[in-house]
Amino acid sequence: MDALSEEDTKMYFYENRLKTFESWPFDEDCTCTPENMAKAGFIHTPSDNSPDIAMCFFCLKELEGWEPEDDPLKEHKSHSPSCHFITLKKKVEDLTVEEFFKLQKERRKFIINKSCNDIITKFEEASKLRRADIIKTAMGEE
Ligand SMILES: [Zn+2]
Repeated sequence: MDALSEEDTKMYFYENRLKTFESWPFDEDCTCTPENMAKAGFIHTPSDNSPDIAMCFFCLKELEGWEPEDDPLKEHKSHSPSCHFITLKKKVEDLTVEEFFKLQKERRKFIINKSCNDIITKFEEASKLRRADIIKTAMGEE
């Protein structure tokens, strides 16, 4: 994919992240409002079983089990201290092209890491099942 394609870069912008929080379970009288979540880099990625999963668009860290008094920025920093997005000193809009490219490169590393980890996890799960099958077969033949 093109490093600067619109689809790949759109979550750098607050407004686009905020739009993902339409069905976010926390809204009033709490710290983890959609606005604070989006400011801290999160996008809402709910699943059927977990309506409150949020993921950082940059480091891809997923967090769930939010409490109303949770501060999204603090949670982000404590669970993913190496995320470049939360340590940015400038607004994304004010970055030079070069700075933006460097940032994109770091984000790519997170994406590659995550997809490798997903593949390894799938492989390990599949091999566990296979091993159980082999043991079952061996026991049956004794
Ligand atoms: Zn992050």
